[in-house]
Amino acid sequence: MTVYSHKPEGYKCPFCRVVAGKETQNKGTKQTDIVYRNDHVTAFIASKWWPNNKGHVLVVPNTHYENMYELPVDIAGEIHRVAQLTALAMKGTYGCDGISTRQHNEPAGNQDVWHYHLHVYPRYENDHLYKTKGYSTEPDERPFYAEKIRSWLF
Ligand SMILES: [Zn+2]
Repeated sequence: MTVYSHKPEGYKCPFCRVVAGKETQNKGTKQTDIVYRNDHVTAFIASKWWPNNKGHVLVVPNTHYENMYELPVDIAGEIHRVAQLTALAMKGTYGCDGISTRQHNEPAGNQDVWHYHLHVYPRYENDHLYKTKGYSTEPDERPFYAEKIRSWLF
């Protein structure tokens, strides 16, 4: 199978770092952002937010797969199972009106981290998700949302 890879030489994968339980010194994902993990997948509050959809979640495979082309279908199923749980947790605790998922592959598909990830966004009436831009959050903004999701899941 052809693998359409864009990962640069010597790429230090930020999501492998999260899965491995390592802390980062910068504003990136902290261990306290993780809302769910099992042997196959990890879900955490994204460090980049959209202005009207705060506290969205990324679901990633624990094994490094760059994109959907190489993602094993059983892992894809597990990712969607956790996305569904996350969606229900958001419905139960964020008070959102709906949920959207997004998943990007290759530069033309707006991928910017070279480890497969599925975005799960809380949606609100007239939130303009597709017209707004993402921005980096401060680490101390994220536990508020992580605790909501965990409180519903566990
Ligand atoms: Zn990785």
